[in-house]
Amino acid sequence: MKYAIDKVAGKRYSIAEWKIHCENRTIGRCEVCGEDVYIRAKETTSTAAHFAHYQGTKCPTKAGNRTPFLNLRPSAIDEKNSLEIRQELERQLYKVYNKCSALTGGLRIATFRKLIQNCHQRNVWAYKGLTFKYVPYLLLASHEKFVKEDLTSTAQINFYFTLAPAIRYSDDLWNQQKNVAQSIWKVCPDGEIINYPIDADLDVEPEWFNSTRKQIKKMIF
Ligand SMILES: [Zn+2]
Repeated sequence: MKYAIDKVAGKRYSIAEWKIHCENRTIGRCEVCGEDVYIRAKETTSTAAHFAHYQGTKCPTKAGNRTPFLNLRPSAIDEKNSLEIRQELERQLYKVYNKCSALTGGLRIATFRKLIQNCHQRNVWAYKGLTFKYVPYLLLASHEKFVKEDLTSTAQINFYFTLAPAIRYSDDLWNQQKNVAQSIWKVCPDGEIINYPIDADLDVEPEWFNSTRKQIKKMIF
């Protein structure tokens, strides 16, 4: 992974920033699972320096370790909340689709329907204490892997999303906010891990729009 938390400063640094701020420290903390990670650089190969977990890690950024969110039990069920969440989802459906599409880099509508179905089959809407801002992230985390057929762009394929490992129940994500990282991570097959902080904004720009934004900014200023 390209980022780690410095345990001394409590800050998130890239490898380059780490070398500036962290003196001789070589051990950091994984931002996803909280385990120690170390700086690994293979001098004999072209692999760039990166943060690596120790053997036997339980980190969900390792594909084999991933426990899909939907396999975790909720602490309790609240059917009244479920109705409110579903009503809000119906009202905001297109915006939720757009957010999921932005974070995946372009999502086919059939796959979006599948994500809704995944969550509906498990009655995720009724998980105790769920608030609407988490819904797009639960949809993304419900899919095992985004392959070519799921996407409208092939710039990035074969990635999955993981939420922070729950302490005990799946709903710890929103019911224990101080103890569970409020982010979702996109884990790409080349080892790149992209952090998206969980927020309520449904109007999200996709990454592919950055280059257009830069070009137009240059043109008009
Ligand atoms: Zn980790």
